[in-house]
Amino acid sequence: MYGLEVRLLVIQPGLEKGATELFVYVDTSTQEVYVRPVLSGVDLAAPRRQPDSCRDELGAHVSTTGGCQLAHGRAVEIDAGVVQIFTKQPQRWADPTVSADAAAAFRAERARHGVATVVSHASYLPNLASPDPELLARSLRAEVAELQRCVAYGIEYMVEHPGNATDGDRKRGLRQNAETIGQVLREAGGDVTFLIETTAGAGNVLGSSFKEIATMISLVAEDVRHRVGVCLDTCHVYAAGYDLVNDYDGVMARFDSAIGFQRLKLLHLNDSQGALGSHRDRHAWIGEGQLGLEPFRRIMLDERLRHVPKILETPKGKDPVVADRRNLGVLRGFRGNPPAD
Ligand SMILES: [Zn+2]
Ligand SMILES: [Zn+2]
Repeated sequence: MYGLEVRLLVIQPGLEKGATELFVYVDTSTQEVYVRPVLSGVDLAAPRRQPDSCRDELGAHVSTTGGCQLAHGRAVEIDAGVVQIFTKQPQRWADPTVSADAAAAFRAERARHGVATVVSHASYLPNLASPDPELLARSLRAEVAELQRCVAYGIEYMVEHPGNATDGDRKRGLRQNAETIGQVLREAGGDVTFLIETTAGAGNVLGSSFKEIATMISLVAEDVRHRVGVCLDTCHVYAAGYDLVNDYDGVMARFDSAIGFQRLKLLHLNDSQGALGSHRDRHAWIGEGQLGLEPFRRIMLDERLRHVPKILETPKGKDPVVADRRNLGVLRGFRGNPPAD
């Protein structure tokens, strides 16, 4: 089903505060219109983001300590309109379901703070390329649960690292990973976009080459393939051997010819502690790793990437707000904006 989704904030005349948020969906093939209330009692007196402060497509992975709904306030603290979270503890299998109250609180906080884009980073435990049928079944259930949490919260993107072909059979791994992504998308329902992240490629981790990612996408069932996109992580591709420092144009041309920019829905902007081709997945502050400033300057000024959300996953240090504001300031500086602090 293809269509148009709009959210309307309905303010009743005569009421000083209080409004209802409506979800309106127009199915463009049948011309049918669905309307349902999303939230009622949105507090208009509550502080809202200044329209000009949600100024770009930059953001960071932020903590959800105390509840996922708190992520939006944390985005505002670093002047970001784009945010990435874990919807659960990423190192555990336990899959919490989202209560109606938690979902409503998440949506209300998002609306109040004007967060434009939310990404969920999947748990690190599932392995959709595992040759072990039990681990595969468990991984499938975990991914379906992750997507269902995204649907409940109204999160539009879920990003996941491709699996590990631990038996060394990458060809089988790629096929299985792709087929399972299709299964996950069908079982979970909703319209969340599944983003395959580029990896640093240690051992038999799949997805360290653009070609492997392209192969995986081509093997996802056709009926759900439009819901699959790619997240390019600058640290991972450099560690995988793509020289963003000396050959930015060449690397981007290779991405475009193998995968195509139309599939690129997210960038993870991380400098790399590991050297080119080291396969080490160790993030560093922007400009302070092996990548240095230049590749990030190119990315920030690259018109093809202008509207692609960009998320920092750089070390937070003692104070996450200070660290993220500093790194976002460096990136924004390339566009002539003064650093945030
Ligand atoms: Zn990443
Ligand atoms: Zn990483």
